[in-house]
Amino acid sequence: LLRAEGLRKVFGRRVVLDGLDLEVAEGECVVLIGGSGSGKSTLLRCLNLLEELDDGRILLAGEDISDPRIDADRVRARIGIVFQAFNLFPHLSVLDNVTLAPIRVHRVPPVKAREEARAMLQRVGLAEQAGQWPDQLSGGQQQRAAIARALVNRPMMILLDEVTSALDPELVGEVLTLLRRLRDDGTTMVIATHEMDFARQVADKVCFLHDGRILEQGPPDMIFTEPREQRTREFLARMI
Ligand code: ATP
Ligand code: MG
Repeated sequence: LLRAEGLRKVFGRRVVLDGLDLEVAEGECVVLIGGSGSGKSTLLRCLNLLEELDDGRILLAGEDISDPRIDADRVRARIGIVFQAFNLFPHLSVLDNVTLAPIRVHRVPPVKAREEARAMLQRVGLAEQAGQWPDQLSGGQQQRAAIARALVNRPMMILLDEVTSALDPELVGEVLTLLRRLRDDGTTMVIATHEMDFARQVADKVCFLHDGRILEQGPPDMIFTEPREQRTREFLARMI
């Protein structure tokens, strides 16, 4: 479904992505792990066209979305993204947060947009909270609302960047449970996380980023129990 080839991203003199290749199959849950600063967030931002590539290309369903002439809004409707900080608009109700992009950017008729938003809020367990303000919700509820907002455009895939790391520990579980359910429903996802237990449970494929590339990748049982690379072993020893 998605194929990134030779991605290169440089900030100043620092080469963050150095010829990185990534493949994501339809319905697959790919988890990115790696040390702080290894480029997980930068990779996700590149896939969502939030960063300009210095080299390489990204194919989504065969189409080159890294072509500068591409309409970025149209790509972002097909690749949703959720960040660590929920980034809900504080002056909009939960429902209006979810309908904003469909109505304003994608020209969905408001009645239809609200209907779809309510269905999506129901799916993430927030049917009751549609009319509330973001600051009336718990952190876990806010993050679930942000996930509903990313899903409402019916994207081909969603990217999730450390979506539990800003949450109080007792709220992490409800978000992870939701992600597990989405995975079971066949949602194509790329997840950057420091939660190794979760990575192990949810991933179809784990990718270990190091030195601007994916140094090692494979099914979680392989990566977590018999990693081939010394660097992977060292990283896991620090994390577990
Ligand atoms: P973490 O696990 O801490 O979230 P990460 O794997 O997500 O780390 P990135 O946030 O992608 O790592 O950062 C990779 C490197 O790129 C870091 O050295 C960071 O300082 C640098 N970097 C990221 N964004 C920028 C930017 N906009 N300008 C300059 N440097 C940046
Ligand atoms: Mg990051």
